Amino acid sequence: MDIFIITGPPYSGKGTQCEILKKQLNYGHISTGDRCRVEKNNQTEIGKILSEYEEKGNLVPDSIIKDLFEKIIDENIEEKAIILDGYPRTIPQVRDLIDLTTSKGLKIKKVISISVPHFELLNRAKFRAKTSTRVDDSNIKIQEKRIKVFEEFTLPAINFMNSELDFVEIDGHGSIEETNEKIIENLN
Ligand code: AMP
Repeated sequence: MDIFIITGPPYSGKGTQCEILKKQLNYGHISTGDRCRVEKNNQTEIGKILSEYEEKGNLVPDSIIKDLFEKIIDENIEEKAIILDGYPRTIPQVRDLIDLTTSKGLKIKKVISISVPHFELLNRAKFRAKTSTRVDDSNIKIQEKRIKVFEEFTLPAINFMNSELDFVEIDGHGSIEETNEKIIENLN
């Protein structure tokens, strides 16, 4: 199985891009955020723990995400390729992913980092607040917190992936179609 990582800040459009890519390429799509929301809605044991992090805009601890991610990978092991959306998000998660893929003989083919300026993220967050049903989009303070958490924990993880893996940064400032074209150009 080949693994493609799409990373970027909240409101960079990575979820939208992953949805488009999985249809274009017929790849599997793993969104740890979507999976956390499913666990929460189904009120599973892990779901009850996860909701307190999501509602405050905080990251779920690495040890919990590690176990959840391993489970998801095993469920998707038959896919020829998968797109990771929202994982890894911290330096320990990058290390865990590299260890897991090495032990399972999977290949991380490419990391695509979507970059959007801070002011544009805030504009998009305001727009999303009007349309989204997500608890962590409901309030500007939680939205800002998610961007701050990204800058504190995920940006260093992105820099680490840049040094360790096949990495490309693309400008996500344009339209959905323009960003999709840039991703496709850079995927191989
Ligand atoms: P997302 O839909 O990717 O924005 O994720 C929503 C929320 O799920 C995050 O704010 C975290 O609380 C949790 N989450 C999703 N993926 C991760 C991850 N890789 N590490 C820690 N927390 C995560």
